[in-house]
Amino acid sequence: MDDSQLLRYSRHILLDQIGIEGQQKLLDAHALVIGAGGLGSPAAMYLASAGVGHITLVDDDTVDLTNLQRQIAHTTQRVGQPKAASARVTLAQINPDITVTALQERVDDARLAELVARADVVLDCTDNFATRHAVNRACVAAGKPLVSGAVIRFDGQVSVFDPRGGGQPCYSCLFPQDQKFEDVACSTMGVFAPLVGVVGAMQAAEALKLLMGIGQSLAGRLLMLDGLYMEWTSIGVGRNGACPVCADKK
Ligand SMILES: [Zn+2]
Repeated sequence: MDDSQLLRYSRHILLDQIGIEGQQKLLDAHALVIGAGGLGSPAAMYLASAGVGHITLVDDDTVDLTNLQRQIAHTTQRVGQPKAASARVTLAQINPDITVTALQERVDDARLAELVARADVVLDCTDNFATRHAVNRACVAAGKPLVSGAVIRFDGQVSVFDPRGGGQPCYSCLFPQDQKFEDVACSTMGVFAPLVGVVGAMQAAEALKLLMGIGQSLAGRLLMLDGLYMEWTSIGVGRNGACPVCADKK
C-alpha cells in the first residue's frame, strides 16, 4: 500500500480486527455483485469505498426513472444507460484505485459458473427467484460464499450461505427450487427506498468480513427486517438433507 492508500483506508487499518493485513486482503479480493439495482448499488458502493480490489458488476438492465427512488448508484443524467456501466462510473468516482468490471448481460448457468469461479465472494442482489437459484447452484458447485439479500415493500432479509463451512444450508435448503413462490416484482409491488440501503449495506458488511475472515458470518441464520415497525428477527436455519443442490456435498 502506498501513502495515499494508507490514508484512504486508515479508519479500517485502525481497527484491530482489520489492520494492514485485513485491508490488504480486501485489496487482493474479487467480489462478484449480481444485480446493480436497489441492493447492488449500496452493496457495491461500500465494497468499492472499502477497497475491494476487483468488483465485477452484472446487470442486463438499463437505468429507468422509476429506479432512482432507491437505486443510489445511478443518476438522473444516466437514465437509459446500462445499469452496470452507470454503477461503474459511481464506483470509480468513489475509489479510482480499484478495478470495476461492468457486464451488461443476462447470465445463464454456464456463464454464472465462469464468473463465480473467478470470485472470492458472491453477492446476490437480484430480484427474482430463478436467478437467485442459479446463483446459489453456481456458488455451491464452486464452493464460494454467497451473501444473499432481498427486499420487498417494507420487508427485508439477509443471510450468508457458505459451502466452505461444512453442514451449512444453501439458499435452496431454505427456499426449495420447486416451491411455487410468487415472483413479486418491484415494478408492481413497491419498495420502501431506504430498506434496500439497509440490506445492501449489510450484504457489503458480510462480504467484507468473509473476505478478511473476521467475526462470525450470518451463515446458518436468516435475519428478517420489518421496516414498518423496525424490528429484526433472527432465525436459525439448518441444512435440508434432501436438498437437490447441496445434499451430495460434504
Ligand atoms: Zn441446499
